Amino acid sequence: EAKSRGRGTFVHFEPQLQQDADDRVRLEHDLRQALKRNEFEVHYQPVVSATTQAVMGFEALLRWRHPERGLISPAVFIPIAEDTGLIADIGEWTLRQACKHASQWPQHVHVAVNVSPRQLILPALPNAVSDALAAARLQPSRLELEVTESVFLSDTDGSLDVLRRVRSIGVGIALDDFGTGYSSLGYLNKTIFHALKIDGSFVRDAAKRSETVSIIHAIVALANSFRMSITAEGVETVADFERMRELGCHRIQGYLFGRPVPFEETLALVGQRFEYGDRAAG
Ligand code: C2E
Ligand code: MG
Ligand code: MG
Ligand code: MG
Repeated sequence: EAKSRGRGTFVHFEPQLQQDADDRVRLEHDLRQALKRNEFEVHYQPVVSATTQAVMGFEALLRWRHPERGLISPAVFIPIAEDTGLIADIGEWTLRQACKHASQWPQHVHVAVNVSPRQLILPALPNAVSDALAAARLQPSRLELEVTESVFLSDTDGSLDVLRRVRSIGVGIALDDFGTGYSSLGYLNKTIFHALKIDGSFVRDAAKRSETVSIIHAIVALANSFRMSITAEGVETVADFERMRELGCHRIQGYLFGRPVPFEETLALVGQRFEYGDRAAG
């Protein structure tokens, strides 16, 4: 018990906390070397049309193949990359890699790249986007950036200005993970976002709660009135898929249609059309 241990005014680390802190220092150190050691890989998850069930694009999801620990989740290393400022270089590498890969898919297939709020406070981002497109000879309309509403919580003006500049290049911007955190309908600014992604936790919750279905219904109506494309994320079952299709989502993404895979495996997916549900629409 911490209380019985004494009245010292300094903080005692519990052994577990100390171990977590050591771990973090070690990971941070390794992360600094990871780019030049070529330890990152971009994986791709298919995004399908709700009506035709054809693959319309892929979301790029970064993986770190640590030499001793194996694959490390972005949920673990992205926050470290953000805190240390390493996200700028890692993000630029990911953007270039994703554009290069997308240029090898058919013209109608797009790529979506996640961008963290820390990258949006860098005025250099629009140039990094242009450079990545030019190097890959990729049309701007085939690239989308995904940002979460956290861009609204800090340095609002600078970040939104960077997003507007990216959009003026012709690149799409999607508001990611909608339905979690502090989501507010006021964030659905149509001058910035061309698309909205409804978070997987919300999509799956709709299977259990009719209130969630009603909320998604309202979000879809509003997004439609702004002519935004709507993606349902985290669709794992045929029932989830049919519910989201009926609610009017245009695009579907989730384990039902495939997990994120290395680039080599996307080539077999680009021509694919799935046939889930009783009404194989389109
Ligand atoms: P996100 O952008 O919302 O990506 C969706 C996450 O949900 C991915 O996790 C994906 O693998 C997972 N997912 C997809 N379908 C399903 C499903 O049906 N069920 C469930 N339970 N999960 C599903 P992942 O790859 O671990 O990425 C986690 C988060 O890390 C991403 O969330 C994104 O915010 C961030 N991230 C990933 N790559 C990058 C990157 O290159 N840059 C930045 N800044 N962030 C990244
Ligand atoms: Mg995303
Ligand atoms: Mg998301
Ligand atoms: Mg997320």
